[in-house]
Amino acid sequence: MADNFDREHLWHPYTSTSNPLPVYKVDHAQGCEIVLEDGRRLVDGMSSWWCAIHGYNHPVLNKAAEEQLHKMSHVMFGGLTHEPAAALGRLLLKIAPPSMSKIFYADSGSVAVEVAMKMAVQYNFATGHPRKTNFVTIRRGYHGDTWNAMSVCDPVTGMHSMFGSALPVRYFLPSPSSRFDGEWNPEDIVPLQETLERHHEELAALILEPVVQGAGGMWFYHPEYLRQAAALCREYGVLLVFAEIATGFGRTGKLFAWEHAGVEPDIMCIGKALTGGYMTFSAVLASDKIADGISENPPYAFMHGPTFMGNPLACAVSKASVSLLLESDWQGRVRDIEVRLRKGLAPAASLPAVADVRVLGTIGVIEVTKPVDMAYMQRRFVEEGVWVRPFGKLVYVMPPYVITPEQLDRLTGALVKIVGELRP
Ligand SMILES: *Cc1c(COP(=O)(O)O)cnc(C)c1O
Repeated sequence: MADNFDREHLWHPYTSTSNPLPVYKVDHAQGCEIVLEDGRRLVDGMSSWWCAIHGYNHPVLNKAAEEQLHKMSHVMFGGLTHEPAAALGRLLLKIAPPSMSKIFYADSGSVAVEVAMKMAVQYNFATGHPRKTNFVTIRRGYHGDTWNAMSVCDPVTGMHSMFGSALPVRYFLPSPSSRFDGEWNPEDIVPLQETLERHHEELAALILEPVVQGAGGMWFYHPEYLRQAAALCREYGVLLVFAEIATGFGRTGKLFAWEHAGVEPDIMCIGKALTGGYMTFSAVLASDKIADGISENPPYAFMHGPTFMGNPLACAVSKASVSLLLESDWQGRVRDIEVRLRKGLAPAASLPAVADVRVLGTIGVIEVTKPVDMAYMQRRFVEEGVWVRPFGKLVYVMPPYVITPEQLDRLTGALVKIVGELRP
């Protein structure tokens, strides 16, 4: 357990300062293990929220950071540029949807979403559609914690009731009910069809996480939704924004989740695993259509420029991380993890407190019948030697790709055991 200073002075995510949830103090992390100060070793099931795909303390990423540190950690991107930014950009364009050709580097996933939304609005303004300023999205989404990102998060899990009229009001559609691996239900697209028909004149873009909805519900939906959504967006002149912040870099079995559907967005956000989990960084990719629309009309520039834009240290580590991924047999590894996750989690399906078990790529989810006591569950996981952080009714894992079969069995074994202790 952490010491008193932490308890008395440090804010942790989504918890109280007067009665905080317990936190565990980490001494170091190596490969797929998090080592606590008291020496306990935990198999990491979270990749530090989707990020640490290569595990911790990786020699290749360490070297990239060290080499860049000795040149410069940071210089401003206004009026200056550097090789790490270009090298990363060349690599990203090779793996991005073919129509993506322009890259905006940003600080975090939430900021990438803000930037993407601003791009969509400014593009419409610049091309003669100043009324197209609003957004449509699907429920159960998660897009970050800054203001506009929050406005397109699921209104229930995103706590819109608390922020009330301070948040811009977006159009929310039901999350597609068709499962990723199930039958496509044509009814799923009807709400989007109706909303676009009625409101397209005020809509700048449809924003969604392709195929996998992450922190808003850990739901995997049918790729046909994206194909039909893309066609409708084109028909009604509404831009399509894909938020691949959680799904990118192999997590779902494809390098990016849009590949499951084969439809390209106008704007795409990436982040999280971009740096291999070393530091915060993100990028917004856009097509020439978007960039030209913004750039060739007043005010002839995109109005955004964060202080740490294009941070060389983050670019250098990101380039090393993406290269490491592409040079590895990541498809084989993700497939092996998927097979073993399915096998390991299958026994959970017949447990009394379990509503659903689903696996896609390296993401394994057990949905239980009622919200769990997070502090209790976390303590039990630590006792079992694994690191898993459930929320609401979702007990889930997305381990680093370097997890060994033994570590993965330990992880799924602990999940099944502890979920088995829950009463329905
Ligand atoms: C995590 C996440 C974000 C927010 O990223 P931060 O780096 O935490 O700001 C946005 N969208 C999705 C899909 C995410 O998973």
